[in-house]
Amino acid sequence: MFKNLEKNSIFKKLGEHSHEEIHFRNCEETGLKAIIAIHSTALGPTTGGTRVWNYENEEEALYDVLRLSRGMSYKNAVSGVLMGGAKAVIIWDTAKPKTRELMLAYGKFVDSLGGKFTTGEDVNMSVSDVQIMAEVTSHIAGIPGEGRGGDPSPYTARGVFRGLQAGAMEAFGDKSFKGKTVAVQGLGKVGYDLCKWLHEDGAKLIVTDINKEAIERAKKEFGAVAVEPSEIINVECDVFAPCAMGAVISEEIANKIKCKLIGGSANNVLVDPAAGEALHKKGILYLPDYVINAGGVISVYLEIKREHTHEKANEKMDGIYDNVKNILDFAKEKNIATYRAADEYAQKIILEASPKNSCGL
Ligand code: NAD
Repeated sequence: MFKNLEKNSIFKKLGEHSHEEIHFRNCEETGLKAIIAIHSTALGPTTGGTRVWNYENEEEALYDVLRLSRGMSYKNAVSGVLMGGAKAVIIWDTAKPKTRELMLAYGKFVDSLGGKFTTGEDVNMSVSDVQIMAEVTSHIAGIPGEGRGGDPSPYTARGVFRGLQAGAMEAFGDKSFKGKTVAVQGLGKVGYDLCKWLHEDGAKLIVTDINKEAIERAKKEFGAVAVEPSEIINVECDVFAPCAMGAVISEEIANKIKCKLIGGSANNVLVDPAAGEALHKKGILYLPDYVINAGGVISVYLEIKREHTHEKANEKMDGIYDNVKNILDFAKEKNIATYRAADEYAQKIILEASPKNSCGL
């Protein structure tokens, strides 16, 4: 009987990457269909954002939440965030506005885990959504106020810029972007701020977005050159900064992209390990996504510890330079691709922190 269920078995899926727990919540009255995946509590109670998305089916939502929660364990580990990794998704038609009742129901769900999971914004979740949740749970971060972190995006952008500087030092022997051409994909909360940092440092910007207003703003404020979304991957540049969505570098794209350095805020930039190996073979330096884009979770961590100040957060963001450098050094030492080096580095930290197995034995 159990064998027949193997193909779609949830336990099999959890086992693939040693996930500890998964929680589902269904609420007919509000339409809430949410999944919280706890990947690892080895470093402590977990944190990770909540993504709202119109998944085609629950299989897709499950795949996303499992993949993203594992990424959070690794991101936390390499970033000095002493918390375990988890993530949540809400299956929702994103063409419809989210209701207050939906956010309250979801807040109650998070609260029911008793602090094992603290969450905040991710794709399609705003500060105001999180503020509604805060009415029913204290296990929430990323809200404005005294000692709070607020929107993590400006911190993420600062961290991405610092990480790119470490990458530039390695790839070009100089951390300055003066005269360098940087192609930025996505001019949202992080991408726009990143452009500002790069522009101030003297970079020439090539940008794209599906939002025309965002493009006009970048042209006006940074003298950026705009290209169509489908063209950004083909432009000649020194640096490619993906700041829109994930899965932008496949093996095929890795073999034809014309840049020397890749690093941005998007999660899960590589389609698969083959893409990372192809970049490594071509001598294109890839800065692992979860190392360079950890600014948001670092800000959230300071908030959870009730230690958040703007100065302290900025200091931590600047530390992303060293976090990236550590991974690049580790990759060189082991002569492996950087994406693999990041995973191995994170796994080592998690194992050293808690040699116990996932049942605490
Ligand atoms: P955002 O929604 O503000 O910005 C995304 C931008 O990408 C939008 O302007 C959108 O129009 C554009 N876009 C979407 N599809 C595109 C396409 N096909 N081509 C070009 N542009 C496209 O999101 P954000 O907060 O700036 O985050 C950007 C990325 O960074 C996301 O992948 C997010 O998961 C990741 N990230 C964000 C943070 C954070 O603190 N905000 C932290 C870590 C990771």
